[in-house]
Amino acid sequence: MKVVKFGGSSLASASQLQKVLNIVKSDKNRKFVVVSAPGKRDNNDTKVTDALIQYYRAYIEGEDLIPHQDWIIKRYQQMVSELQLKPLILDKITKSILDLATLPIEENPFLYDTFLAAGEDNNAKLVAAFFNQNGLKTRYIHPKEAGILVSSEPSNARILPSSYDKIEELKNYEEVLVIPGFFGITQKGQICTFSRGGSDITGSIIAAGVKADLYENFTDVDGIFAAHPGIIQKPHLIPELTYREMRELAYAGFGVLHDEALIPAYRGKIPLVIKNTNNPDHPGTKIVLKHSHKAIPVVGIAGDSNFVSINMSKYLMNREVGFGRKVLQILEELNIRWEHMPTGIDDLSIILRERELTPIKEEEILRQLTQKIEVDHAEIEHNLSIIMIVGEKMKSHIGLTATATKALSDNNINIQMISQGSSEVSIMLVVNSEQEKAAIQSLYKAFFN
Ligand code: ASP
Repeated sequence: MKVVKFGGSSLASASQLQKVLNIVKSDKNRKFVVVSAPGKRDNNDTKVTDALIQYYRAYIEGEDLIPHQDWIIKRYQQMVSELQLKPLILDKITKSILDLATLPIEENPFLYDTFLAAGEDNNAKLVAAFFNQNGLKTRYIHPKEAGILVSSEPSNARILPSSYDKIEELKNYEEVLVIPGFFGITQKGQICTFSRGGSDITGSIIAAGVKADLYENFTDVDGIFAAHPGIIQKPHLIPELTYREMRELAYAGFGVLHDEALIPAYRGKIPLVIKNTNNPDHPGTKIVLKHSHKAIPVVGIAGDSNFVSINMSKYLMNREVGFGRKVLQILEELNIRWEHMPTGIDDLSIILRERELTPIKEEEILRQLTQKIEVDHAEIEHNLSIIMIVGEKMKSHIGLTATATKALSDNNINIQMISQGSSEVSIMLVVNSEQEKAAIQSLYKAFFN
């Protein structure tokens, strides 16, 4: 049994939907189909999810809603008419889009999520109608019916483990099931979405719940490249990755798969494959628990910008019991998430994402570091990028850091920090954002050419 997930670009137009139908029809094991909202048809297009965000903003600000409603409804209408679907489906979609503007605004923390979820929900209805009309017995299943129960964290839901038993019951259906991705239901029955790109997470949850043999994630590229194609011309395609490698790459900016989408499939030990809707015969990139062959030590190089470092030093810091805790407590009290913490003998840096800080919070951190913890020096450095050199087999290879640092020094790139976790699945380098691209290019050359 296979779970297939189609991303927005695979569902953006009637011609794309035809490809999706062919893919599902060509393998009777493809029983569960998770769909995104319609994506961009070309570079200048708008994703339905983004149009729904604009519609939501207009609603809460009391602006004219008609242009927003019209645009979204027309987007579906075009597909309905090109696919020659019965008008009933468009009536349902139209009603659902218009009904959003009747929901209460006050004391409704899930309103935004409810607007956004309409993109996938209506698309699932449309896809199910299209499949049925083309000889594939299909049933649309709402996440509530599927049993996708999530935490009450608006726009950032997490699956509740109790969901999996109910999801397993989906195996009892005869038909192909089409399930909207991106959202679940809280215990109080509210619609709550995962973070953006979260349909990948739904696919993974369904795969784990029904104990699928394979989770196929269909997108618009042949698989995962060893580096970003916008930075490296024709980077090579990675045939196989482990979950941990994928997690590291996804964390550091490889957007093909949501980084949280791996956890459910990982727990359920379901192999995953990234495939191309526009080239379905290509084997794609497999994501597995363990490498099946002699993998190369470095599988990919990723980079991500908008990082900040809080740097501090204090003489004899290493002898002060509780120093680290006191620093982290300052961040915790300000509700700030941090990402990495490289240390020296007398200094410590905390790397976090730029979005975690505001000028007021920055001032407060510096004030508390100097006054409460009495550091000798504290500063906040902006405009940093992290570069991840990823590969599970790095553990058994000597000299990879030397190769990396030499590549960077040969290209005059200053490494601001370097860190490697004990699992040795990645080496993280921090560089100035202006040098991010050059750093990836020189590392790619050193490890892949
Ligand atoms: N439609 C949602 C988004 O654009 C979720 C998804 O496509 O995975 O973020």
